[in-house]
Amino acid sequence: MAGDRAESCSFCGKPAAQAGKLIAGPAGVGICDACVTTCGRLLEREKSRDGKPAAGGPAMQEAPAKPPLAPIKLIPPTQLRLELDAHVIGQAHAKKVLSVAVFNHYKRLNDRHTKATAAQAGDLANVELDKSNVLLIGPTGTGKTLLARSLARMLDVPFAIADATTLTEAGYVGDDVETVILRLLQAADMDIERAQRGIVFIDEIDKIGRKSDSASITRDVSGEGVQQALLKLLEGTICNVPPAGGRKHPEQQCIRVDTSDILFICGGAFTGLDRIIARRGGAKSLGFVPPQNDKPSLSAEQIVAGLQPEDLFSFGMIPEFVGRLPVISVLEPLDREALIRILTEPRNAATKQYRKLFVLSGMSLEFSREALEAAADRALALGTGARGLRSVLEGVLLETMYALPEAAPGSKFTVTAEAIRGEKPVTVLAATPKKKAS
Ligand code: ADP
Repeated sequence: MAGDRAESCSFCGKPAAQAGKLIAGPAGVGICDACVTTCGRLLEREKSRDGKPAAGGPAMQEAPAKPPLAPIKLIPPTQLRLELDAHVIGQAHAKKVLSVAVFNHYKRLNDRHTKATAAQAGDLANVELDKSNVLLIGPTGTGKTLLARSLARMLDVPFAIADATTLTEAGYVGDDVETVILRLLQAADMDIERAQRGIVFIDEIDKIGRKSDSASITRDVSGEGVQQALLKLLEGTICNVPPAGGRKHPEQQCIRVDTSDILFICGGAFTGLDRIIARRGGAKSLGFVPPQNDKPSLSAEQIVAGLQPEDLFSFGMIPEFVGRLPVISVLEPLDREALIRILTEPRNAATKQYRKLFVLSGMSLEFSREALEAAADRALALGTGARGLRSVLEGVLLETMYALPEAAPGSKFTVTAEAIRGEKPVTVLAATPKKKAS
């Protein structure tokens, strides 16, 4: 281990100061702890796959020769939709569109990897199915990520979330687009084949619009540059992923991942899109009545029906990028009633989770109907969709939960509207069960 001091990891390029540990080899060569872990995993997997130790050297970085993939179990759209209903409130259009897109995506994947379907397809056997990545348009906190995550869980495929605004064109400060695939690999426990059939959700896609139509002397590295880079991932490419993240390094060994079968779901608010459609007049034919105030209210179906690619170009999206997202759905803003349902109905609804926490301490917790309404109102005021609900409840229940272990066993807590609004003590009463005098 001794020898010349390595100043950075020879694999990922991470400087010694940033690496947890840098193991030095001869002549200034070094490897950081993260790369050691990754290499160890790769070797282990090769070993278990072949039943014998893997040969060292460069072969280790290649995607190993694929054993035929077991086809993904196809879940019919109607069943996917039903499952989504258990987790996501409302958003009927998005659920239907996603169920069909996911069903078709995995049908395509199975078709690409199994010969079995060739016989079924008959004279269509040579027809190649295009990839159908999805664009979900809708305000923040309306369930875009939740839908994508729920689908991945149902299909038992790895899932990763990326924020488009953190990405930059290769070579500039920020993350390379390959980090998106690294996250998926990590979610798949570095299993390349599993990652290659995973789902990636890229949020804030509307924030990487081309900065300006006019030619600029500065490169648009976080706008058009990122769209160009993502374009390749979306349509399917072999991408070289630096195993420890960060910037790619010329001598660095990378993991090769084929993105052809990865389903990309992009999400963005595209604020004002409904107005653009309404202004163009496309909505008139859809029965859209121009609003009195400045709030056009096109339904999800109306927006999808009236949407034209140019509408997305006006957000700075480049035509090639929009072309890679052929499946589009729109999520509705959540109204008060939807927020109340979100608090109580989904399998893991927030109120159910808090009730469970109380029950685990031998207590019980209830929310009055008015409390749910008040919580929904506060979340509406926050303007972050359903995302605000959880923080509202967390704040209201903080003191109660803080003192919970000291409360009399069997205490019954009720959250009222006043408690939600902070007008009454946060800890709303506890009726200690009366013990029978013996
Ligand atoms: P975004 O549309 O910004 O991606 P998310 O899907 O991340 O929103 O939603 C944030 C949280 O809000 C979710 O984890 C979930 O708890 C809740 N939520 C949002 N929309 C819904 C919905 N339609 N049904 C149920 N829960 C929802």
